[in-house]
Amino acid sequence: MNRTAIYPGTFDPVTLGHVDVVRRGLKLFDRVVVGVADNPGKGPMFDVEERLEMVKEAFSDADNVKAVRFSGLLVDLAHQQGAHAILRGLRAASDFEYEFQMATMNRRLDERIETAFVMAREDYTFVSSRFIREISSMGGDVSELVPAVVLRFLKPGKQPKPIA
Ligand code: ADP
Repeated sequence: MNRTAIYPGTFDPVTLGHVDVVRRGLKLFDRVVVGVADNPGKGPMFDVEERLEMVKEAFSDADNVKAVRFSGLLVDLAHQQGAHAILRGLRAASDFEYEFQMATMNRRLDERIETAFVMAREDYTFVSSRFIREISSMGGDVSELVPAVVLRFLKPGKQPKPIA
């Protein structure tokens, strides 16, 4: 049986923490489909096409990982992609509350789809897209925390959008 999981997120931008989640997910599933959410409400720094391109390039050497853009219900995307599960990563207890709500809501929407969590690698527990945006906009070096493609997109002077 071909077991597929959807790994949804904003990926603004994709980090090595995300890459690690996918790698761990591939121990549990045959394929991982990374769902890059439109999420205009979050005021992303990169538009969805840029975020998708970075994810695609970060996983270009993996046949069992594909990336798609999506808006709308995650459970609908799961069905479209033939996925049985949603994959998410946990860094710290602070992630739990939101993840718990999301997993519970998705289960209410569709009982058949399970949410599976993997734990962040210890040295990436502090890595978040938000810190990457902030540190790089202030000229800090994030080269050990993101796939190489992201460094090309994080041009000096690209500022994170102010939070509304
Ligand atoms: P969202 O906007 O849905 O939170 P993100 O792109 O920020 O999307 O994160 C997607 C998922 O990846 C979430 O489950 C998040 O907890 C997880 N994640 C993000 N960074 C890391 C990391 N460094 N290690 C493990 N999981 C992570």
